[in-house]
Amino acid sequence: MDRLSNTWTASDYIKIGLNGMPANSLGGIDVTYRCNLRCRHCYFLKQGYHSELSTDQWLAKFERLKDNGFPFMICGWMGGEPLLRKELVDKGRRYFKSNIIFTNGTIDLPDWPDVTFSVSIHGTEDYYYRMTGAKPGTYQHIKKMLIDPILMW
Ligand code: SF4
Repeated sequence: MDRLSNTWTASDYIKIGLNGMPANSLGGIDVTYRCNLRCRHCYFLKQGYHSELSTDQWLAKFERLKDNGFPFMICGWMGGEPLLRKELVDKGRRYFKSNIIFTNGTIDLPDWPDVTFSVSIHGTEDYYYRMTGAKPGTYQHIKKMLIDPILMW
């Protein structure tokens, strides 16, 4: 298993039990303005962002935060479609104790067993295509990708 370098410890639980969650323990990062879908309800694309930090810029930012005692507890990785920047998310997730990736499911999920994936699929198959503009076959591909691992248990 590809393990995180930053994991929860007994000491974390004791500190949280005694003092509660520290400031900035829960946050989200929009890693990209890009998306491979064009959902009718998307508020993100309407904001018109056209630039994003490089992987090296993000890693430098994380290192600065580390030097300043940032808790690096729970991070939500978002976009746009965050898996368009797999390399950045893969490197960045190692700083945090828990990671949730909010994805549209069109890109195959990486084998990161210690990460939680939140996959958005909107409604029935017909409705999904009307809302997202996804190419034919996407809905069934996502369904298979999510269901097959469960059936293998
Ligand atoms: S998948 Fe998400 S980010 Fe992409 S267009 Fe749809 S709502 Fe917007």
